Amino acid sequence: MIKKGLAVIGYGGMGGGFHCKKALASDVVELLGVFDTDPEKLKKAEGDGIHAYKSLDELLSDERVEIVTVAIPNDFHKDTVIRCLNAGKNVICEKPVALCLADLNEMIAASEKAGKLFTVHQNRRWDTDMLRIKALYEKGELGRISVIESRVHGSRGIPSDWRKTKEHGGGMVYDWGVHLIDQALCVIPDSPVVSVYCNLDYMTTSEVDDGCHITLVFENGVRYFVEIATSNFIALPRFYMTGMFGSAIIESWEQPMKVTVLKKADENDATPIRAESGLTKTMAPRDETTTYSYEVPMPKSDVHDFYRNFCRAVDGKETQTVTHAQMRRVISVIEAAFESARTGEAVKRII
Ligand code: NAD
Repeated sequence: MIKKGLAVIGYGGMGGGFHCKKALASDVVELLGVFDTDPEKLKKAEGDGIHAYKSLDELLSDERVEIVTVAIPNDFHKDTVIRCLNAGKNVICEKPVALCLADLNEMIAASEKAGKLFTVHQNRRWDTDMLRIKALYEKGELGRISVIESRVHGSRGIPSDWRKTKEHGGGMVYDWGVHLIDQALCVIPDSPVVSVYCNLDYMTTSEVDDGCHITLVFENGVRYFVEIATSNFIALPRFYMTGMFGSAIIESWEQPMKVTVLKKADENDATPIRAESGLTKTMAPRDETTTYSYEVPMPKSDVHDFYRNFCRAVDGKETQTVTHAQMRRVISVIEAAFESARTGEAVKRII
């Protein structure tokens, strides 16, 4: 495939540190240059050997640019994406694609009018922890699933840049929540969400949330719990899933998934154990006579496939991996989560 010309808007952590680096090593795109509103960032780009456009107009009038990646603070996504689409570019926007569904709908309408592709960089669809949970869920080995828990726990508070401000679309729901919600809808793509309940944390912030606890109830009965925390000094496991016949756990990034499955349901096997100040048979742990256990190592996964797919989609050879319907679903869940946090009630809505 002939490499497609790519320009990146925003030469910060994600634009410079991720997209440009990936593009320089890419087999499908050629990095033609970057634009940033901060002149210091443009100087840095040039120092790094990357062409710096003097203005957004100059970038957009470069006919060699087929794809633009937008990696700037969240509140600027909508206007910048629409400008790029109107200039005839295919657009990849960083997450969260928009701050509300109405904005996203305007962006989608602009892409349809321009006849250009538009997607969001949901790179965490390539995370192997989620991919292993999804594969096990699809395999059905654990029987009917009751609960999936997906967490990221840190202890450093929210970064003290634009992410700490409401004006720029800061907060952990937009920052990490959007990833874990997108993953939830990937794990269970075929059952609608029927209820969203959310609590927000303000441990180190007052303007925007620095953590959240969101419970999604799917129509098929699965309760999917998403938790982002930035003041947790002992982290809970990254993933936990449990069903009628077994449970799975992934302790942390880059750990194997541990799975324990029921072999034989023999109610009489339990001998009471001492539990603190009492005895229990109900909570007595199982051993290898009634269960088997195994580990699933990290599979191969290549986030470059995001750009490979988008380039093939631009050529009309594939459908874009992250579709408009999926983008709308994620933002709808986020809207319901904020509504729930505001009202203190679960939002019963089919999403
Ligand atoms: P950052 O602050 O490090 O960089 C943002 C850059 O954009 C800065 O250099 C700033 O000068 C520039 N900028 C601001 N407004 C601009 C505008 N209107 N036009 C051009 N340049 C502008 O922020 P970041 O961490 O790189 O985040 C950027 C985006 O990437 C956000 O939407 C964020 O949510 C997303 N992000 C995604 C991931 C991921 O894993 N997908 C990870 C981090 C950040």
